[in-house]
Amino acid sequence: MSEFDIIREVFAPLGASAREDTIIGIGDDAAVLAPPPGAEIVMAMDVLNEGIHFPVATPAHAVGHKSLAVNLSDLAAMGSRPLWFTLGLSLPDGDTDWLRDFAHGLGSLAAEHNITLVGGDTTRGTRSIAVNVCGAVSPGRALTRGGASAGDIVCVTGPLGEAGLALDALNQPASYSQAEIEILNQSLNYPTPRVATGLALSGIASAAIDISDGLAQDLGHVINASRVGAVIRVADIPLGDVYANRVDEIGYETAVTFGDDYELLVTVPESRLDQAISAVVATSGTLVPIGHVTDGSTVSFVDSNGRELPVSGGFDHFKSN
Ligand code: ADP
Ligand code: MG
Repeated sequence: MSEFDIIREVFAPLGASAREDTIIGIGDDAAVLAPPPGAEIVMAMDVLNEGIHFPVATPAHAVGHKSLAVNLSDLAAMGSRPLWFTLGLSLPDGDTDWLRDFAHGLGSLAAEHNITLVGGDTTRGTRSIAVNVCGAVSPGRALTRGGASAGDIVCVTGPLGEAGLALDALNQPASYSQAEIEILNQSLNYPTPRVATGLALSGIASAAIDISDGLAQDLGHVINASRVGAVIRVADIPLGDVYANRVDEIGYETAVTFGDDYELLVTVPESRLDQAISAVVATSGTLVPIGHVTDGSTVSFVDSNGRELPVSGGFDHFKSN
């Protein structure tokens, strides 16, 4: 297939169900778009390289889903509504089956979030997918990393650590049942961007970030940007069933340090916690308090007895009790 055939057959249909605010989509030299009146535009880009951001054996459908999902997750963390995206594709060959499956995975998630593909570029090279998303927020309403204050409650929007266990299962499959491996691969390959939750928390949460690099690291970004500290109760971190069944054995290390879960980490003023939980539950999401913001400058992780757990170097101490 030539580059033009690929664009016409595989990607143009994804832009066909264009939003009304897409004046010119795929097919011209550039897209022309009409932003919602008065809105602020939010932009983000994440690049996924084969063998680095997804295992080489990842099904094309999952690669398509994930390359948009990680970008929608960034819009979610800003409390932003998705509008449009572009797609930069570098492919080693014109493998039609791979491309169709990829486009199907990408297109399903795009349709779910009413975000339209409006352009891109297609080149030959090692497999790499760059997605650039564009969203909207009401003026001044974007959630940022910098708004947390001492006393705020730290919350997450879902279970952490199963994407990390999925990679562990790749290395030692004998430690997991086939059913467990399927659940873990689903977590790794099909992260759910918490778009509705981010929108629901806009105007309520004081700060937000999506957990792409692990709770410890991403919470670190929030406390640095907000000039505060935090205490996290590890036993309150939500876990999926596969993880929960092993937590006595493996502790919380993976849930705290591994990324790729794409849940949101948010801080909420204590007086607004009930309102935040209700707003998130109304979108069929969850919001789980796991700690609080302090007037310090570091993050500490404590066990159920209030004992501090070492975060660097001593991860095998990350046990549940
Ligand atoms: P140009 O050389 O003018 O940049 P291209 O041949 O690269 O034009 O692209 C033609 C049209 O196809 C443009 O509208 C471009 O945005 C779109 N396009 C190219 N590659 C992709 C892709 N991977 N996904 C979506 N649209 C694409
Ligand atoms: Mg081009």
